[in-house]
Amino acid sequence: MSFANEVRNELARIIPVNVCCQKAELIALLGIRAELRPNKEGDMTLFTTVENASLARKVYTLLKQAYGVSSSVHILQKRRFKKSRVYRVETSLQGETGAILQKDLGASETGFSRQVKWNIVKKNCCKRAFIRGAFLSSGFINRPEGNYHLEIVLNDSRLAADVQRIMRRLGLDARLTERKNNPLIYIKEGETIVDFLRLVEASHALLDFENVRIIKSMRNQVNRQVNCETANLAKTVDASVRQVEMIERILAQQGIKVIPPKLRELALLRLEHPDHTLKELGMLLEPPLTKSGVAYRMSKLERLADDMDREE
Ligand SMILES: [Zn+2]
Repeated sequence: MSFANEVRNELARIIPVNVCCQKAELIALLGIRAELRPNKEGDMTLFTTVENASLARKVYTLLKQAYGVSSSVHILQKRRFKKSRVYRVETSLQGETGAILQKDLGASETGFSRQVKWNIVKKNCCKRAFIRGAFLSSGFINRPEGNYHLEIVLNDSRLAADVQRIMRRLGLDARLTERKNNPLIYIKEGETIVDFLRLVEASHALLDFENVRIIKSMRNQVNRQVNCETANLAKTVDASVRQVEMIERILAQQGIKVIPPKLRELALLRLEHPDHTLKELGMLLEPPLTKSGVAYRMSKLERLADDMDREE
């Protein structure tokens, strides 16, 4: 199962204790997912279509507990897609309770006003429940082994701005963008995703995410160190190979006598120790020489080789 599905399954099983939070989460879920159509009895029917049974159960339970309305759940087969099953929760909005729910949803004959009803998310507990509902209805999270990414796709730009504002009030730095004309809220920082998971009470997912994050950061540290050491080693070897070639060329063409006595010892040491750094070569010289002193003598050797090439 994908990590996103694991998180969604975990969240689908959470039923908030407080009615205020139940309402907030339900409004988020329905506001993004549901459709409202007039029925034969002259009332409105709410249709909420979801991909899995646990989420259908949650919608059903929240409607029952928060508003006291009963729904029926239907399993629909979609032929065109592999994942062929969807669940539709149908709720007839009758009487007083129906009217209250309709008002909380900001629903009318023409549909929903897709704006957040701020009185429903006044308290922090309700804000948390609301973003859980929003994530459940259209959220995605990448597995922590890959790039850190969490998003909630929304179908209305005002709603997206409101959801972003709610997340900001909870201290979550979420960004707003667009994909194929759909407004999209996203988080890219591992730390903030951890905060998100904590706020929506996805405790299992939080643990998994943190474990991978710790392993990743340790691996990065080790990699950085190894890369650094490898890079330095490669530089030393490259330089050394060039120096050895140059010295061998001088010896082959003109012999050791052409090299001034002061440079001779260094030239021979280089041939003997191709893997040494300049500093290490300096320590072998008699008397010892600093790294910059060795580099200076090496450059003189190079000039000698250049002059020899030019004379040819
Ligand atoms: Zn609450």
